Amino acid sequence: MSTESQDYHILVVDDERDIRDGSERILTRKGYEVTKASNGEEALERVKETLFAIVLLDLKMPGMDGLEVLRRIRQSHPEVLVIVITGYATIETAIEAMKLGAYDFIPKPFKPDQLRIVVDRASELKQLTDEAKRLQEERQRTLKDLHLEQSRTRTVIRALPDGVTVTTPDAHVALMNPACVRLVSLPGEFVPGEHIGHYVKDESFCDLVARTSRGEIPEEQTSLTYEFSMEGDKYLRADSTTIRSESGECLGAVTVVIDITGLMMLDRQKSEFVAKVSHELRSPLSTIHEQLAMLLNKLAGDTPEDQRYLLSRAKEKTHGLITMIGDLLDLSRIEAGLVAQDRRPVDVSGLLTGVVDFLRSKAAGKKQTLTLSIPEQGLPHVSSDPQSLEIVFGNLITNAIHYTGEQGSVEVSASTEDDRVRVAVQDNGFGIAERHQERIFERFYRVKDDNTRYITGTGLGLPIVKGIVDDLGGSISLESEPGKGSTFTVVLPLS
Ligand code: ADP
Repeated sequence: MSTESQDYHILVVDDERDIRDGSERILTRKGYEVTKASNGEEALERVKETLFAIVLLDLKMPGMDGLEVLRRIRQSHPEVLVIVITGYATIETAIEAMKLGAYDFIPKPFKPDQLRIVVDRASELKQLTDEAKRLQEERQRTLKDLHLEQSRTRTVIRALPDGVTVTTPDAHVALMNPACVRLVSLPGEFVPGEHIGHYVKDESFCDLVARTSRGEIPEEQTSLTYEFSMEGDKYLRADSTTIRSESGECLGAVTVVIDITGLMMLDRQKSEFVAKVSHELRSPLSTIHEQLAMLLNKLAGDTPEDQRYLLSRAKEKTHGLITMIGDLLDLSRIEAGLVAQDRRPVDVSGLLTGVVDFLRSKAAGKKQTLTLSIPEQGLPHVSSDPQSLEIVFGNLITNAIHYTGEQGSVEVSASTEDDRVRVAVQDNGFGIAERHQERIFERFYRVKDDNTRYITGTGLGLPIVKGIVDDLGGSISLESEPGKGSTFTVVLPLS
């Protein structure tokens, strides 16, 4: 540490002029600022006016003696380091001075080097104490800021209209804001510290919170979402996210709970409206379709080609509309929870054979091979209503045929794995680019590119398939590569 860097202010108090001036010379050369006083009274005056780092104080002076001056300086300015200057004869007084809090002493007469060493040592100590004081103040300021920040965050969380719950890695609740307490209809006063199951009765919700609190969240997901209903027709959505430290250690989870009752009601009304309109449109459209078909059959042989073309286009379009209405009605039934209600053990082998046979002519129309492979010993039964399963596999196989070029192949294979049945529909068709893969399960989403542009459809097939599979407690997944083909895999629980 350099003592030169600190231009500390030093007061030299001595009744001998030579000592005062000599000390001043030596110390100013070292970079210190020096003030002089020739007696005790003057010294105390200077100390009142200026903040000195070090005072060099002669103990033996006429008038107020050095010890008294020392006592007063220690009282009014305890941070000032006092070095006493003393003759050999007064070494006892020097000891007395040290007891009174003098930092060091220098015997008279002294050489310039002796003075430099003693003052530099004091200056070094001063620097260290100053630095320690600065750090302490900084720490206190940081703690104050932190405290302020924490109370600010707490106020914001308390005022949020959405529910927020913070849980520890073992799913104990560390914080639950008033909105959350209200949303989960907690009876009585909220006291933190218990397991989440103590506050919320919905088991799946508690499972989800426990999993995210332990950090068990699939790598590709940032949070886990769950929708559930509470008594009194209240619907809630929970989004739970694992919180990690900078080193990746799991610290627990933050779960945001929002009230989606309004949205659910709106969705229900919308579905009811769509179902009603679809229902009303189906009969007249079917009649128009039939009449157009009849008209086309009865056209005289000399009917101009353009008129025949117009009528057949109209018939095709009405057929498209009838298909869409059928799909919309299926979706409404799924949303209303009316699908797969009438469950019974279904023989999947027989069902797949029926669907594949039915679609064989469609595949043949595109010169495609359509194969079905089922284990020799057959497949165990699945609990469903057969019609729903026909819709699932009918849609997947029809899609595979549609979105595969001429002479392609479609392979349907079924197998059993643990307590599940797995059916894969694989084609070597156009494939689906990654950016579309999630989205094709959304309603009306269709991929529009050079391959699919002229293929008609509603974009409702896959949402229907997914809705039914979800209802049956199964899952659907997709692997696909553009230009190579796609495999849709459905996994269903056994009866
Ligand atoms: P639709 O077939 O009526 O358009 P779907 O919901 O059944 O509606 O399918 C949505 C979109 O997914 C299709 O438009 C198509 O682009 C894509 N798709 C579905 N199945 C396949 C498949 N086997 N190969 C390639 N693309 C597919």
